[in-house]
Amino acid sequence: MWASGIRPEALGVRLNEHASISGDVLIDAERLGLTDADIPHPPSGEPFIGSYWSPSIGAARPMHGQLMERDVEGAGHVLSVGWYCVTEIRPENRVEFSDELTDALGLPHMTVHFSYSEKDWEMIRATQKVQFAAANAVGSFDPESSDVLPPGASLHFTGTVRMGTEDDGTCVVDTDGRVWGYENLFLVGNGVIPTALTCNSTLTGSTLAVRTARALMSV
Ligand SMILES: Cc1cc2nc3c(=O)[nH]c(=O)nc-3n(C[C@H](O)[C@H](O)[C@H](O)COP(=O)(O)OP(=O)(O)OC[C@H]3O[C@@H](n4cnc5c(N)ncnc54)[C@H](O)[C@@H]3O)c2cc1C
Repeated sequence: MWASGIRPEALGVRLNEHASISGDVLIDAERLGLTDADIPHPPSGEPFIGSYWSPSIGAARPMHGQLMERDVEGAGHVLSVGWYCVTEIRPENRVEFSDELTDALGLPHMTVHFSYSEKDWEMIRATQKVQFAAANAVGSFDPESSDVLPPGASLHFTGTVRMGTEDDGTCVVDTDGRVWGYENLFLVGNGVIPTALTCNSTLTGSTLAVRTARALMSV
């Protein structure tokens, strides 16, 4: 859009990404009463035994756990205790487009500005408490192994062409995905997601794309 000269005020602004916290805990077979026979061994080349989740349930627990059970050579029966949590939607977090520099595809060079606010860090610390409690339910979790991954690590980026109910400079498209001020320009993809997610983003983006497809059918 920037390269095409379509540059709404909100383009690239309010980039959002949930924070990601990783960690591993050795599953304590004795405590859980498991024997070797209870632990499935995945086929060769398949590292995962199972994948589970602890869903976000809104304000009461705005964090999402992604738990991967693995048979790790040399380490044993391990549960990866990854947790995601919301971050604030702030205009400071944004993509800046260059009018001078281009990328390898000849498109405007992008500079990403993103940082965690104090409120984000509070949420990250609260999420680590949930992670510690869950991990300690199946083994003995070393808090030092809880790792807050650098921004960008989630690959779940949203909000840079966000959807909104009013053309007030904070959003790029209306609730049908139509770019404000244009009759025949529609956007889909995770960029239109207007809310802060705690989970993988593609399903949410896809549901909004269905909404836009329905609107397009009536154009
Ligand atoms: C390794 C990896 C694993 C992931 N795992 C998950 C997961 O398990 N679950 C999950 O929910 N999400 C996952 N994601 C994130 C998910 O892939 C993205 O969030 C999602 O694909 C974004 O969809 P999109 O339609 O917004 O953008 P994209 O899928 O990036 O689609 C944009 C399309 O536009 C095309 N394009 C770009 N510029 C131009 C141009 N100038 N002209 C024409 N075409 C152009 C691109 O080629 C691309 O096909 C993962 C991402 C990665 C990289």
